[in-house]
Order: sequence, then C-alpha cells, then structure tokens
Amino acid sequence: MSDNDHTTEGEPGALRTPIVAVLGHVDHGKTSLLDKIRGSAVHEGEAGAITQHIGSTAVPLDTISDIAGELVDPDDFDLPGLLYIDTPGHHSFSTLRSRGGALADIAILVVDVNDGFQPQTHEAMDILARTGTPFIVAANKIDTVPGWNPEPNRPSKVAIESQSDRVESDLNERLYEIIGQLSSKDISADMYWRVQDFQSNVGVVPVSAETGEGVPDLLTVLMGLSQRYMKDEMAIDVGGPAAGTVLEVKDTQGFGTTIDGVIYDGTIQANDTIVVGAKPNSIVTEVRALLQPKPLAEIRSDEEFEQVSEVAAAEGVKIAAPDLDDAMAGAPIRVVRDRDTSDVVDLVQQELADIEVSTDDDGLTVKADTLGSLEALVSTLEESEIPVMDASVGDVAPRDVRMAETASSSQEQSILAFNVDVLDDAQQLADQEDVRLFGHDVIYRLIEEYEEYVEEIEEAQQ
Ligand code: GDP
Repeated sequence: MSDNDHTTEGEPGALRTPIVAVLGHVDHGKTSLLDKIRGSAVHEGEAGAITQHIGSTAVPLDTISDIAGELVDPDDFDLPGLLYIDTPGHHSFSTLRSRGGALADIAILVVDVNDGFQPQTHEAMDILARTGTPFIVAANKIDTVPGWNPEPNRPSKVAIESQSDRVESDLNERLYEIIGQLSSKDISADMYWRVQDFQSNVGVVPVSAETGEGVPDLLTVLMGLSQRYMKDEMAIDVGGPAAGTVLEVKDTQGFGTTIDGVIYDGTIQANDTIVVGAKPNSIVTEVRALLQPKPLAEIRSDEEFEQVSEVAAAEGVKIAAPDLDDAMAGAPIRVVRDRDTSDVVDLVQQELADIEVSTDDDGLTVKADTLGSLEALVSTLEESEIPVMDASVGDVAPRDVRMAETASSSQEQSILAFNVDVLDDAQQLADQEDVRLFGHDVIYRLIEEYEEYVEEIEEAQQ
C-alpha cells in the first residue's frame, strides 16, 4: 500500500488505477493496439480478465501478470492495474492537470515503424512534453519489417536498429529538443533493453498490433513506469467527493443527454449533486442514474447498460442527469457533497479559465472539439507567436463569426476550427461578412493553412 499519509474516510492510502491514453498519427495503429490489448487480456486471463467501462477498459494487475509471465510479478506492484481510454488520439487527451486532475496519467505514443514521425506524432509529443506526461513509444507494425524475427525470446535488436532507424533518430532529436524534463538522456536503439529495468520514463517498445508480438512487453513497461513514476499521484480519497473528466456528451435512449466520463478521484453516487464544466456557465445538477456496461460478454457494445449505485476512481461511467446539454468534452466533473456548491462552481470555472481564452487583444478566433485539443491548439499558436483573441469548445456558430469580425486586421478576421463543424448559419454569415474559415483535423496543417494565407496576403500587399 502507499506510504503516502493521505488519509481517507474510507480506505486510507488507497491507490487507483493509472489512466493510459493512446496517441499517434492516423493509421499508425492506435485502434488496433487497443483492440489487441483488450483481446490479449480476454484471451489470457480467466473470467474478470478485464472490465469494460464506459469509454475505457480496465486491465487488472493479475491479468497483466498472466500476459507478461515472469516479467510482471504481482508482488512487486501495489497499483491495481491499468485503465485504458478507449478513444485514441489527443482529442480526448484533456490536460487539466493543474489541480491534480488529468484524463491521462501515462501515454502510449504509437509510431508506425515504416512511416516514422508524422504531423500528429509531433503534435502528440508536444502535448506530452508540455504536460510532463510519462510515455512510451510503441514502434508498431514490426510484423511488416522484412527480416523481423518473431521469436518468443525478445525481438532482434539488430532488426530494430536497421528498420526503425527513423523512429529512433527522430525520437532522439525530438526528445533532446522538446522534452528536457523527461529523464531520457540518450534514447538509442537499445533503449528497449534498458526500459525493462525501468531506468527512464521514455522507452521504445517494438510491437505488432496485428500479431500481438511485443504487447506483453508493452504492458510490462507501462506497469513498471506507473509503479515507478505514478505511485504517489495515484493516492485517492475513496470516500471523498468524486473528481472526473467528461469524455463525451451524447444522447442515451431513455435517459436524454448523458455524459460519458472518467472518475479519477473519490466516489460518485446516484443522487449526488454535481458540477460539470459547460459554456457559458457550469452546470449544477443532480445525478439521476449511473450507468456501466453489462459484464464482459458484450465487449464494445455501447447499447446495454446496468444501473449502479456508485462508482469510484478510476472508472469510466455514464452519468444521466438533467440539463447536461451544454457540457463540454474534456471539462471537469465534480461531486459537491459536504462542500458549498458555489465553491465547487468556482473551482470548475477556474479550471476552465485556465484553458479557454477570451481577451480584449486582437487576434484569431479559435474553436476545437474538446478542451484537450483546444489547449493543444492554443499553445501551438502561442509557440508560433500567432495571437488568439477568443478560444472555445464547440462547432463554429454565428457568435464566433461575430467575434472574428471584430479583429482589426483582415487576416485576423479568421476562424481556426479544429475537428468541429461549421453551423449553416455561421457559414452564411462568414460568407457575407468576409470572415475566413480554416478547418482541419491536424493542428499543424490547420496552422500551416492559415500561415500560407497570411503569406499570400502579405505578398499581395507588397
Ligand atoms: P489508427 O488510425 O491509428 O487507429 O490506426 P488503425 O488501428 O485503424 O490501423 C490502421 C491500419 O493499419 C489498419 O488497416 C490496421 O489493420 C493496420 N495495422 C495496425 N497495426 C498493424 C500492425 O501491427 N501490423 C500490420 N501489418 N498492420 C497494422
């Protein structure tokens, strides 16, 4: 158990499951890898091998040990296992870490060994570096590397050196440049061997999401990293009011608008009063029902739920409550319990204010699908020294066009929209008022398109 002196009403010193996010470029194998991890767990373990939550999958320590064999001795660990967020990509990677909360504690950066680093890989690494999130690189698709030797006793080091050269050297470069705070000084082709001793919080694990090779190693390294780097942060107040993050807002038959979320501290109970981050004001409502999937048999079936009376960290849950329509993906969920509602509302507002931008300065209007991606977009713009006037979550609405219109320079009368739709009336208004709309699902491309446009304008003016 934890030696942390954090005491609780319920179980003193309880540790929760670290939450794992899978990031990487499109088509590099994020979804396949998650499926493989789930598949391996179900295949290897007995009943109860994994628990399917809402939006996430829990793989307990015993199951990881079953898969990893002698690599993981449960006696060496006191964390209960790993919880994987099912939706890959940084859209769901909210970075509300400032007050101890975060959607992901640890990450897997998936890189296709044949394709090397691509824009979304860089983007993901920027997010991880900025948030100081420990991560490992899953060098995926090793089954496609000619001459790869799929022996049970560890993949050939020579093959890694020759074939994933690009991954290694790119990673090396990026790591030196961006991730000073991570302790990796010399990422090299033999990193894979050293991470087995958990000497560093970055490593490269060759895997195949197709054949499953390397998956045991991946789980071993993740479990080891969590134990080494995350243990103290995993102390939770089991009996305390829950803290969580919204993953998705959606309609659920019979329950109206519901939120899928992850609880990372405390406990949420039916009838609890909760505060949920929303625009323009936080929502204060009462939990009507807590829903979780029925046991294992229906893996990935989103349709059938059972009601539960309480959910404790770290677990995924669907929350049914009145007035959830304006809840934002990536926003905080907080149970009020014996605190003042207004204090909790202030807390939630403060967390949101840290991410959403609204200034009197001149600059762009920015929209994104979740708070996590909004934060990533805004920080990338800041790094490129592109000023932002207003940044918020959601589809581009007429209000945003009106906002963009107030920028003084014509080039800043633009909206950068990441992974969201443009509402019809907003499009009409933009056409009418000459506000430029840029949309993309890759942050770098979105910014590139805008920069090209600015260049064109500047050239035209010369
Ligand atoms: P995502 O966009 O990152 O989630 O990528 P997907 O998991 O959808 O994978 C993209 C494509 O690569 C699919 O056709 C997969 O079948 C294939 N793929 C993923 N992992 C592997 C692998 O390890 N080996 C091979 N040969 N194909 C893979």
